[in-house]
Amino acid sequence: MTHDSSCIFCKIINGDIPSAKVYEDEAVYAFLDISQVTKGHTLLIPKTHTQDIYSTDEQTAEKLFARVPKVANAIKNAFEPIGLNLLNNNEAPAGQSVYHLHIHLIPRYGENDGFEPNWIVHTDDYSNDDLQAMAKQINERIS
Ligand code: 5GP
Ligand code: ZN
Repeated sequence: MTHDSSCIFCKIINGDIPSAKVYEDEAVYAFLDISQVTKGHTLLIPKTHTQDIYSTDEQTAEKLFARVPKVANAIKNAFEPIGLNLLNNNEAPAGQSVYHLHIHLIPRYGENDGFEPNWIVHTDDYSNDDLQAMAKQINERIS
């Protein structure tokens, strides 16, 4: 497994830093976030060190996301939340503070459970033509 000796999540995978482990297999490691947003807040990470979603190869991404349902279902069975959010922050302006790719699994218990996605304000600023042009701009850059 490639790892970065200065990375705290690589240290957690290696057991150099203790963690509350939820699940582990050959490709991924899941553990409780030390700062729980809601009860059962879990981080799922690839064992291969990759900084963020941009630098992640398809195989690593495939294996990582493939494990999301089983961890999500285990959290659901354990704590009976009424919902669950997946979150992945990339780069500091988006809230990334640890530079080893991770998916947050945040079980939800109600409006005032601590998770506040109130920053999600949808707009109607884009016409259908705008959306088509933007989609083309992105599509042309898919490699
Ligand atoms: P980010 O802000 O990068 O999306 O998420 C990083 C998360 O890692 C934060 O929610 C933070 O609480 C958690 N975290 C940081 N250091 C540690 C640690 O040493 N152990 C555990 N379990 N979680 C950590
Ligand atoms: Zn790492």
